Amino acid sequence: MSRPPISQAMEDYLKAIYKLREQHQQVSTSALAVYLRIAPASVTNMCKKLAELNLLTYEPYQGVTFTPTGEKLALEIVRHHRLIELYLAEALGVPWDRVHDEAEKLEHVISEDLEERMATVLGNPKFDPHGAPIPSRSGVMIQPESGRLVDMKEGDRLVIVEVDDDDPELLRHLGEKGLYPGTEIELLTQAPFEGSLTLDMHGTQQDVSYQVAKTILVALQER
Ligand SMILES: [Zn+2]
Repeated sequence: MSRPPISQAMEDYLKAIYKLREQHQQVSTSALAVYLRIAPASVTNMCKKLAELNLLTYEPYQGVTFTPTGEKLALEIVRHHRLIELYLAEALGVPWDRVHDEAEKLEHVISEDLEERMATVLGNPKFDPHGAPIPSRSGVMIQPESGRLVDMKEGDRLVIVEVDDDDPELLRHLGEKGLYPGTEIELLTQAPFEGSLTLDMHGTQQDVSYQVAKTILVALQER
């Protein structure tokens, strides 16, 4: 699609709204302000501008909703971001804890042609290195069923679906433990009151803190 002339900051807003909505949170301007670490008054101003461009509908005290054009544009930016992350990881060998920051910059500047070439070289991938779904060119995305690791039961046999992408320290920690998307684990024990979890990974036991486990999405293994 051809893009309306909007700034990188506007693109970041659209992506932030998209991400907050993905997490089933109500997208209020105050939630956006916290997420973007920007003063609420500035966020309100920007949302008004985006509404004038017909990318959002914005009602004071009711939060923001995408228009069809805004949603399409947000999906396009998400596609760029996730494709770039995968390309950097797979084609260039960039460690998975560094691809997000690079993609944050590159997502605003790559052409549609470059995007297509990356997608082709990667075999039109469905997921980024952190397990997040990559929207197709037409905006279709496979969102696998998943739940938080901390909400699972002892004895559950699980597969890691997705992890948070934006905290390099956390990603290095997960990498050291081998907790990548696609890894099969069994939840052995979870200590009460948000205590640590013990996992079995192909015969090796790993302890994971509640804070870390909270960031991991899993699905039940198919029998
Ligand atoms: Zn990312």
